[in-house]
Amino acid sequence: MSEMRFFIDPIRCIGCKSCMQACSECATHKGKPMIHLEYMERGSSTQTVPMVCMHCENPTCAAVCPADAIKRTEDQVVQSSLKERCIGCKNCVVSCPFGVPRYYPEMDQMMKCDLCYDRTSQGLKPMCATVCPSEALFYGTLEEFQSRRKGTPINTFDFGMQEIKTRVFLVAPDGYVNLSMDVMHHLDGRFEDNAYDHLDPFSHLEAMPMSGGLL
Ligand code: SF4
Ligand code: SF4
Repeated sequence: MSEMRFFIDPIRCIGCKSCMQACSECATHKGKPMIHLEYMERGSSTQTVPMVCMHCENPTCAAVCPADAIKRTEDQVVQSSLKERCIGCKNCVVSCPFGVPRYYPEMDQMMKCDLCYDRTSQGLKPMCATVCPSEALFYGTLEEFQSRRKGTPINTFDFGMQEIKTRVFLVAPDGYVNLSMDVMHHLDGRFEDNAYDHLDPFSHLEAMPMSGGLL
């Protein structure tokens, strides 16, 4: 049987925050949502984008952790930090290319999305995907996705010279193969208007029509 995958389709997000609410009800993170909503262009658009850990094939967060506090399961799910190991240095927070991990001072620990591993390891969907009314968060096989949905699932991202492959897919308009997030290329223009738009991984979607749209 094909592997179950997680898909984020930003175009479908209606900003209802059901995912955040459902996530925050998990007993292991005590009222804190591990999924976050980003805004594409807050000044001019209400479009929101749900953001979870992308579960990178070679996770930078784990590579830079001096305490070896971030472990991966056999099926490549990158876990939150181990409480007894995390020293709160925040290396993972600043190094994650997707801006995912958060350090919680009251818990003195980095926590992040672990793909609801207590559920997904038992064949259940992550909580956020069970409540998302527009299926902006979709959990299923690649074949299931392709038979039901529009858009191209992408899990290869370019950050300058570095290519990052992820376990989680981002749904882009048809025709895309990978998404370039070339930060260095844009540094010369850092004093120009909108100079940092390229740092937003979803800014390319702003001018696009409903590509991953509802069926
Ligand atoms: S998205 Fe960030 S937190 Fe998640 S595995 Fe990749 S580097 Fe680590
Ligand atoms: S904050 Fe914790 S998990 Fe993150 S790099 Fe530092 S020790 Fe590792």
